[in-house]
Amino acid sequence: MTNATSTSFRTQAFIDGAFRDAQSGETFVSENPASGRPITSVACGDTADIDLAVKAARRAFEDGRWSRRSPTSRKTILLRFADLIEANSEELATLDALEGGKPITDCRDIDLPDTIKTVRWYAEAIDKVFDAVAPTGPDALGLIIREPIGVVGAVVPWNFPILMAAWKIAPALASGNSMVVKPSRLTSLSAIRLAELASAAGVPDGVLNVVPGTGAGAGQALGRHMDVDKVTFTGSTEVGREFLHYAAESNLKEVTLELGGKSPSLVLAGPPDLAIVAEQVLFAALVNQGENCSSGSRLIVHRSVHEELVERLAAGLAEWPVGDPMDPATRIGPMIERPHLDKVMGYIARGRAEGARVVTGGEQVLESSGGYFVAPTIFDGVTNSMSIARDEIFGPVLSTIPFDDEAEGIRLANETSYGLAASIYTTDLDAAFRVSRALRAGVIGVNAYSEGDITTPFGGYKQSGFGGRDKGLEAFDQYTEKKTIWVTLR
Ligand code: NAD
Repeated sequence: MTNATSTSFRTQAFIDGAFRDAQSGETFVSENPASGRPITSVACGDTADIDLAVKAARRAFEDGRWSRRSPTSRKTILLRFADLIEANSEELATLDALEGGKPITDCRDIDLPDTIKTVRWYAEAIDKVFDAVAPTGPDALGLIIREPIGVVGAVVPWNFPILMAAWKIAPALASGNSMVVKPSRLTSLSAIRLAELASAAGVPDGVLNVVPGTGAGAGQALGRHMDVDKVTFTGSTEVGREFLHYAAESNLKEVTLELGGKSPSLVLAGPPDLAIVAEQVLFAALVNQGENCSSGSRLIVHRSVHEELVERLAAGLAEWPVGDPMDPATRIGPMIERPHLDKVMGYIARGRAEGARVVTGGEQVLESSGGYFVAPTIFDGVTNSMSIARDEIFGPVLSTIPFDDEAEGIRLANETSYGLAASIYTTDLDAAFRVSRALRAGVIGVNAYSEGDITTPFGGYKQSGFGGRDKGLEAFDQYTEKKTIWVTLR
């Protein structure tokens, strides 16, 4: 397994245009989950460092060095930022693969291209969106304009480190805000490098600050800071709730939450070619080793095709090799850390104990590597009352639930506290639209697993989300205030 201790990394906080150690001098160890070995030590920011970063962001916002530039000028710099990400994409992909245990092929071919596209798209959009004029009579002019919200805190997870950061940074900076980004303790390196590249592209000092640290330390400090205007959070539903407490107990900052999921792949009677369905269902369940908020972790399948589909899924696992994330052939890397491996294995044990049948997988593999690998696991005979059907496992574990008629399929699909995404498989056009409407989820893929692209909003119903959407022009709503200017005409 790859161990990159010899490579040099940027490991300090980036505050007000400069790299800094944590004021406490504390660091934490970043570990390679494919080997269990340390990669490097990273500055462990806490309340004092967050405060320094917020003050720098506030100064930058108030003096207008970024917030009062024309959108076209911000666009030019953000396009340069995208070019620099592209020029350094091999390095950035490697950082996420090393720290996150993500297959290098996915980092190179999915995460980095999507990150670059995200930054370019918001850069290009910002000088093409118009504000509104109210439908007044001749005695008034009513302008409804957007303004940047101010200092934005972004707290992001470890499963798509650079891409989740980019989903926040690109629209927030394009809109003219200043930011403090707190990456996950498990994957800080690509976000730190992003800040350095933004600075090299011409983003002024203080506008994009990155403070690595723990959730309870730096994350909480950002959530509770009295001078942060907005927090945009992606992570677990449990921690998302905490941010609502932090806002209520501090300055009522605005909060957007992108949270967990338990998304269904719903295969109706009369599906398309089962070979394609099997390929897509496996992709939905296994991409990013199942550590994916919109993972299609429940297969809800019409009984007429249930057996054949499960057989095809088991056979299809040959296309999903588990191994060293740095090997280009690997499609499933390790779980992010030992406690997460234990959690996933705990769910597999509970699934068995609750009476579900393991079709394939179900065990830890490649233990001699020192890494945290789990064999892709398919359960059959699952019911919605089992914990493996209810809880977000966040690993390569698929739960199969058969049904008999469409209404039952919809009921089973919706019987969850989450509502992030869903896929429907059918050749019946009416059923495709009817069921798309009936499912309580933010993103529906028809005849393929898909989250849409950068043009479409992403976010969840129910306990999968709150207070706004990432992606699409809708993301600008997160990062702007609306102001009415009413001019009385005489
Ligand atoms: P997490 O909630 O544990 O951590 C997310 C971030 O919050 C990290 O930066 C972490 O340091 C910080 N944090 C943790 N505890 C905190 C606390 N008490 N106060 C303040 N900050 C705290 O989530 P994770 O394990 O990093 O990521 C996995 C979760 O993210 C899954 O539930 C997944 O579904 C979700 N996710 C959602 C989306 C989406 O767009 N809906 C995308 C990716 C991941």
